[in-house]
Amino acid sequence: MEEEKRNGLRVILFPLPLQGCINPMLQLANILHSRGFSITVIHTRFNAPKASSHPLFTFLQIQDGLSEAQIKDGPTSNVMSLLAQINLNAESPFRDCLNKVLLESKESSSEKVSCLIDDCGWLFTQTVSESLNLPRMVLCTFKATFFNAYPTLPLIRTKGYLPVSDSEAEDSVIEFPPLQKRDLSKVFGEFGEKLDPFLHVVVETTMRSSGIIYMSCEELEKDSLTLSNEIFKVPVFAIGPFHSYFSASSSSLFTQDETCIPWLDSQEDKSVIYVSLGSVVNITETEFLEIACGLSNSKQPFLWVVRPGLVLGAKWIELLSEGLLRSLEEKGKIVKWAPQQEVLAHRAIGGFLTHNGWNSTLESICEGVPMICLPGGWDQMLNSRFVSDVWNVGIHLEGRIDKKEIEKAVRMLMVESEGEKIRERMKVLKDEVERSVKQGGSSFLSIETLVNHILLL
Ligand code: UDP
Repeated sequence: MEEEKRNGLRVILFPLPLQGCINPMLQLANILHSRGFSITVIHTRFNAPKASSHPLFTFLQIQDGLSEAQIKDGPTSNVMSLLAQINLNAESPFRDCLNKVLLESKESSSEKVSCLIDDCGWLFTQTVSESLNLPRMVLCTFKATFFNAYPTLPLIRTKGYLPVSDSEAEDSVIEFPPLQKRDLSKVFGEFGEKLDPFLHVVVETTMRSSGIIYMSCEELEKDSLTLSNEIFKVPVFAIGPFHSYFSASSSSLFTQDETCIPWLDSQEDKSVIYVSLGSVVNITETEFLEIACGLSNSKQPFLWVVRPGLVLGAKWIELLSEGLLRSLEEKGKIVKWAPQQEVLAHRAIGGFLTHNGWNSTLESICEGVPMICLPGGWDQMLNSRFVSDVWNVGIHLEGRIDKKEIEKAVRMLMVESEGEKIRERMKVLKDEVERSVKQGGSSFLSIETLVNHILLL
């Protein structure tokens, strides 16, 4: 994207401190900066983005009330409970920080602050921005179809679908297609009714906001985007997969193992299955070993990201026996964190065994890489249904973390004729999404509309 002249306006961004939320927020920062806006990023101490990787932006750190130990464990800890704590602790430091930025901008009078853009997971930002007379826009890092369900999730939970009997497991959830009843327990997870007040605040504050920005496009969910506008009654901007404009690698919280790339260079075209479950999902020791055996038995080359902290109770891959490790290393490579976008774009990658986080799903679509779906919970349950049942560009494991199932799915995707058909459909979807972000495409035009909207706030 070409750099435009500065327009004398500053936008304040406030990401939720998770890898899957920091990446899109900093990509959005780059998009807006390229359209003339100056950027200030307010961030917590926990999972702080690396300011030195973004010299064009101003970074301001606020206290989040976490202990040194919690900060140090950072990305390997139980982030969901930390996020709940931060949402309680960070309001006052955030208010002070935002107020200071606004006062400084008034005093200097050279640059006006036009709005705050923050993640839909923050609970206090709408109230704070209203009290300071600053318009607020919401960045939603989920698929719009999922966010649209926020107002109805408490109702779905009390509908009596759970627990789901075997005979009903594959039934659609009428209020929430294409979700199946068997997906519901993992959408609600351990939280159950504790989610209701959270959902209520998010919906209510989003309705008071000046608009929602989605990392999505009409080609993927036109009707949901229209519906989103009707549900939340605010303008909606679907500006495409953000990484199509700017890569996320500079906002990585983990050290990326760059040795993946020369290793991939030595592999044949479309022969490698890339395996990663993102930055938050955890698996048990048994599940880890089933995946390891499944990959080994598939005899297919693989690149496997085992994030430290991924396996509950383990540091990294020490649970693998010497024999299993040796057999894995014959065909594959295990790393702690990969430059994912670069990996997915590599000619050697032929498939992605993924947890279907929305970023990973979009990144896979944009590179035309078909998926094996192993969602961990929340919106991943819906994303994976779209991948396997709506777009037909992946194979769903249906939660069966079993070595035979994994071996079967890998071989089906990578070497059998079924995989070829999936690959062809993925190519069509990739082309559609690609058109959307090119000049004149729906997402490209939506960026124009968004920029004009912010200029008028
Ligand atoms: N990612 C990465 N290297 C890895 C695994 C993931 O750079 O080894 C990036 C990935 O490209 C994506 C983000 O981390 O941008 C994960 O976001 P997603 O929404 O897919 O899942 P989450 O981590 O939020 O569950």
